[in-house]
Amino acid sequence: MRSRLEDDITTELRVLESHLDGMLSRVQHNSLTLKRLQSYEMRLLAMNTLAEMIEFILAETKILFGLDVVNLWLVDPKNEIAAYLDGDHYDYKRREGLLLINQESPLGDSFDGSKQPVLGGYRSSDCERYFSASLAKKPASVVIVPLVRRDKYLGSLNLGSYRSDRFVQGMATDFIEHIASVISICLENNLNVETMRRTSLIDPLTGVNNRRFLEQRIEEELDRSQRTREPLSCLFLDIDYFKRINDGYGHQAGDHVLAAVATLIKKQLRNNDVLARYGGEEFVALLSQSDNKHAVEIAERIRICIAELRILFAEQTIPVTISVGAATYQPAFALKKPVAEIALQLIQTADAALYEAKRNGRNRVENGGLVLRMDAA
Ligand code: GH3
Ligand code: MG
Ligand code: MG
Repeated sequence: MRSRLEDDITTELRVLESHLDGMLSRVQHNSLTLKRLQSYEMRLLAMNTLAEMIEFILAETKILFGLDVVNLWLVDPKNEIAAYLDGDHYDYKRREGLLLINQESPLGDSFDGSKQPVLGGYRSSDCERYFSASLAKKPASVVIVPLVRRDKYLGSLNLGSYRSDRFVQGMATDFIEHIASVISICLENNLNVETMRRTSLIDPLTGVNNRRFLEQRIEEELDRSQRTREPLSCLFLDIDYFKRINDGYGHQAGDHVLAAVATLIKKQLRNNDVLARYGGEEFVALLSQSDNKHAVEIAERIRICIAELRILFAEQTIPVTISVGAATYQPAFALKKPVAEIALQLIQTADAALYEAKRNGRNRVENGGLVLRMDAA
């Protein structure tokens, strides 16, 4: 027969065992969560572009925390983020869950000063406005986590659950805050990289691309042209007697004319055409999928527009004309050569045609025709 003491000990052991089981499964659960958190962070840190990062946050935060709704707000008062995303052909306006807001700070009354997450019921709180109005099913409880870096609001991560007890006031949010600070660092980093990438490839005076960008892109465009067998045309554009403009109206007026001419040329091109300031008052345009005839038509259109342009500076109207040289690479008619060589030929041919246009009186277009023709061999 078992003694009373034995019974007590057995019971106590069972209780301890069940506690241990519970603790063990908690430890297992926590270590799994930690692993998932680490993997989330590692992948987030590896994102190369802003667009990739946004996609990652919207999709993966949902999985990491087992959420029903994830919305991301980004503060973008100067439309820089919008421009970066546009540049990457990322349709941010149509991305459900993403919103670019233009007020600088704070995000709303909820965040006055504290920069702490705000938790609560969806309806009872003023969190409602942090979620896209077109949500098919509204969350029952939410947490709005500000994304802050160096005391500046970058945006907010707005998380929602259909369960009303998921986010309640007083609940610990250190996990979520941790994620928010990692997101903020990555966001800041990515924005800096995008800014550097763009400013190093853009001419500050005219806002169009610079020669470095052109040299990178022309080879990519030629690669594509060879793959698709579609032509690529090049225009070399140069302002006529620009020195006289500088001398007659001043250097500042000259700068103004340069910017106005660049803007007008850009307007005449398609979005995916490349326009670069090649040197002082010279521009190069790359027209993809444009044959030689089309390129000459576009050159003529640009020439006429500029000649008709009324550039006003310091209450004076400055007349401007340009000369243009055109050349086209047509893969079907061309000798096979490395793209770097073709690039050089294309630009040189357009430049030689421009020289002809200058020689023939300026304010005109000359055509250098096709480069690297088979019959030229
Ligand atoms: P052409 O019709 O033969 O092209 O004559 P041009 O006077 O336009 O050509 P030229 O090459 O003799 O002069 C170009 C001038 O452009 C000289 C230079 O001072 C001026 N220039 C180059 N870069 C800038 C700039 O950023 N701003 C201003 N205002 N002028 C510039
Ligand atoms: Mg000139
Ligand atoms: Mg020149």
